[in-house]
Amino acid sequence: MLSLLFFIVAAGLILQASIGLTFLISSMWEKERRATVFGGLQFIGMLALVILFFYLLNTGFLKTPPGVMLLIVGLIIGALAAFFLIKRIGENVKALEGTKGLIVSAVSRQDEREIMFARNRSLPPGSEQYKHFYDAHPEYEEYDTARREKGGPLGQPGTIDKPLERPNLAATFASLSIPLFLSTPEKVEPRALPIFPDQPQNINPDIASEIVKGYTKNLGADLVGITETNPLWVYSHRGEIFHENWDEWGKEIELKHKYAVVFATEMSLDLVGTAPHTPTTIASMGNYAKGAYIATQLAAYMANLGYSATAHHLRHYDFVLVPMAVDAGLGGCGRLGYLMTKEFGPRVRLGAVSTDLPLVPDRPVDIGVEDFCRICKKCAVCCPSNSIPSDDPTEVNGTLRWKLNAETCFDYWGTVGTDCNICMRVCPWSHANTFPHKIIRALISRNRYSRRLFSIMDNIFYGKKPKPKAAPKWAQLNPN
Ligand code: SF4
Ligand code: SF4
Repeated sequence: MLSLLFFIVAAGLILQASIGLTFLISSMWEKERRATVFGGLQFIGMLALVILFFYLLNTGFLKTPPGVMLLIVGLIIGALAAFFLIKRIGENVKALEGTKGLIVSAVSRQDEREIMFARNRSLPPGSEQYKHFYDAHPEYEEYDTARREKGGPLGQPGTIDKPLERPNLAATFASLSIPLFLSTPEKVEPRALPIFPDQPQNINPDIASEIVKGYTKNLGADLVGITETNPLWVYSHRGEIFHENWDEWGKEIELKHKYAVVFATEMSLDLVGTAPHTPTTIASMGNYAKGAYIATQLAAYMANLGYSATAHHLRHYDFVLVPMAVDAGLGGCGRLGYLMTKEFGPRVRLGAVSTDLPLVPDRPVDIGVEDFCRICKKCAVCCPSNSIPSDDPTEVNGTLRWKLNAETCFDYWGTVGTDCNICMRVCPWSHANTFPHKIIRALISRNRYSRRLFSIMDNIFYGKKPKPKAAPKWAQLNPN
């Protein structure tokens, strides 16, 4: 009996020291200096406990009544701690309804003409559309004119890293060429090649879903889900114009497809780690390019199978992607307004293909995002423009959620000349998807007490306001 007690205690101590070691190695690999120091101290403490145990065992103390009592008390404390950190506690059944669980009153469809990018990027001053829009929305005109005079959403690109910004901007804008090229009508809504018969390929929806997900991952997606398209998340009118196709501007958008395949690609940890400096925009735009590459081929694949399909990516969206991704089971909606995935947090970019190919929708998931975000608030604390709310979710267009102030956020983009990404960088869910972080994610996804504990630990190990990391050598700002 005593041997069994010794074995259980030794195994528990060795297990926790091993996890501590993996955390230390992971922190070194992530180039997180502060986490490496604290991870090192934590590992030394855990190792000391293992050594102390074997020392006391060797001296015979653990075989005496006080020694046995010490082990039993330690074991009970350890078992209780494990129980209260691992057991599923604090489920959010609303999250399992996806976006339906967020709706509290009537929702109106968003008009793409009103989004900040469509206003500031697409509308040429002096045009008929410009006059039409600002006559209907005078509240935006003064604001948008001032922003346009500063250079648009990114102001003077790369301002924060001037005068050495050019190579990173060159890389950033190189990626933009892909979505722009792939947003021509024949690429967005491809037709089957003539070698295929006219009638669609008959495929069982279960098998079709498996094939489509496998193919999407094969193209480079890290996460894939399927949802029925909810018309509430479809834009009401077209507002983004990229090919001088102005007859499209203001047209009502009707999504004819019943299903959407939504996918996410992981953004580079190293590049996002530099936010708000220019390397982070290489990641943003590079992932948009990946999204366009994947969505375009996936739509063409479905077309070749005989089904109608539309690619949705940076230069062509018929719907808002975040709610679609939530409904497709990719994650939940976080305080910072982005999709939060279990695997990469908000450190992803999204793309989608809508189709009439019969598929089997995935179920929305509860990964504890809402509860964790209520505790954490790190993005709100670190946001330089105070664009992220630090209070509870509020009603926004019929849904109860956090709403980022896009206007002030984009003004900050204009100040630094990048897409900032500080909120994404500091989010505790954005850490590398390594073994110890996987364990932490698994715990915070299922347990309320783990969320509280690991939110505090994140502040200790990474700081309340983590600083940007150095860029990889190839993206360091010294071209000479
Ligand atoms: S930083 Fe914290 S509050 Fe903000 S999205 Fe991430 S987990 Fe939520
Ligand atoms: S991108 Fe930057 S400015 Fe915008 S919300 Fe995030 S931290 Fe704030």
